[in-house]
Amino acid sequence: MEKLFDNNKRWAAEKIEQDPIFFKKHVDGQAPKYLWIGCSDSRIPANEMIGLEPGDVFVHRNVANVVPHTDMNCLSVLEFGVVNLGIEHIIICGHYGCGGVAAAMEKEQYGLIDNWLRNIRDVYAFKKDALDQISDPHERHCRLVEFNVEQQVMNVCHTTIVQNAWAQKKPLTVHGWVYDIATGRLKDLRCSISSLKRINPLYRTLSS
Ligand SMILES: [Zn+2]
Repeated sequence: MEKLFDNNKRWAAEKIEQDPIFFKKHVDGQAPKYLWIGCSDSRIPANEMIGLEPGDVFVHRNVANVVPHTDMNCLSVLEFGVVNLGIEHIIICGHYGCGGVAAAMEKEQYGLIDNWLRNIRDVYAFKKDALDQISDPHERHCRLVEFNVEQQVMNVCHTTIVQNAWAQKKPLTVHGWVYDIATGRLKDLRCSISSLKRINPLYRTLSS
């Protein structure tokens, strides 16, 4: 563990060398414009891959980047980010090669996590017809990764938190991206939503 503290000392020194007030400017608070909801996978360096520094991104991560409507942890991050920090862009970022998504396609048990991954198994069941048409297992996995991101974008939009922000005319867009761990590149799934108009009326909690 000593190595990690050495690394930290060096990192802090480098930051101060580049910008003498780098840490001082963070003391009074944060005002990030981006909320990142991504997978816990160790290969996904959230800030780093989009070239953003400490203070720029509010981050929530869990296995397979899921936003269940009963998850108080995720919803608290979402509310604090949108209401208190004034987040303008929420990014749901999945990744190809996601172990959580892969497990949700298998007939095997892994323990408690099977209940968490049930969220993705539901997406799999919902999109089964489209997924069954893909013969290559890797391609099928990649498509479910994308479907899962698209579903989580909708889940974020279905919350009262996001709908209230839109009702108050706050600029807020929810984006769906996928990270390719083999290339380091991000793919925009082009499913961004920034108003109530794109939401299924059944999920709208406000009349306009
Ligand atoms: Zn993952």
